[in-house]
Amino acid sequence: MNKALRPAVIAGNWKMNKTPSEAKKLVEELVPLVKDAGCTVVICPPFVDLSVALEATKGTNIKVGAQNCHYEKSGAFTGEVSASMLKEMGVEYVIIGHSERRTYFGETDVTVNKRTKAALAEGLKVILCVGETLEQREQGITAELVAMQTIIALNGVSAEEMKNVIIAYEPVWAIGSGKTATSAQANEVNAVIRATLAKLYGEAVADATTIQYGGSMNAANAAELLSQPDVDGGLIGGASLKPADFAAIVAAAK
Ligand code: PEP
Repeated sequence: MNKALRPAVIAGNWKMNKTPSEAKKLVEELVPLVKDAGCTVVICPPFVDLSVALEATKGTNIKVGAQNCHYEKSGAFTGEVSASMLKEMGVEYVIIGHSERRTYFGETDVTVNKRTKAALAEGLKVILCVGETLEQREQGITAELVAMQTIIALNGVSAEEMKNVIIAYEPVWAIGSGKTATSAQANEVNAVIRATLAKLYGEAVADATTIQYGGSMNAANAAELLSQPDVDGGLIGGASLKPADFAAIVAAAK
């Protein structure tokens, strides 16, 4: 399928930044800057900002996502938030398996799979993150590792449910580091992910799935990265906290 037929999605991962009042201000600044976007625009603020973000984006083209969700509906999981809680609020997207969750909070491929299935079962759209560390890249196992992360994360996910899955290739060494993958590196791994999806679900699903790149994408490098045939959008950390920079990336996705 022609890349132009896949939905381009630019999503902002605010990480642990912005209080509710700061979130309101950021969204209000962003709304006019992205109102003519030629792609899907998603912001993923911290849980405590979701209500404010949902209110401030009402009637706009900005969608709201969370940064994680638990795999159980409810119960004794102190500090966690379930997919059904997000759904009832009106949240549409959820990031699952971000490398910071994997590195600092014990997230594994198996828990990423459980969270992915729980989110999809509630009708949320999942932004599923995969990516290699610098050591793994230097060892030459990037393709195998990212393919394996993808296969395990999608275990038990149906072809029909793949309509609600976006995959974000995020090399761990590029996140928050200012070191961006080259457009060729990003495209190469995104193509590996697409080939993996083709093996799991067939060419039609693989061709229709949006695969983002994430890792120090900014206003200056976005156009080059997004011009690659297998790069269908971006997951943006640092630059998503600056409305003008995020809007420039959104504009580059046209
Ligand atoms: C991220 O947090 O997903 C990310 C890509 O961060 P940054 O853009 O800051 O590298």
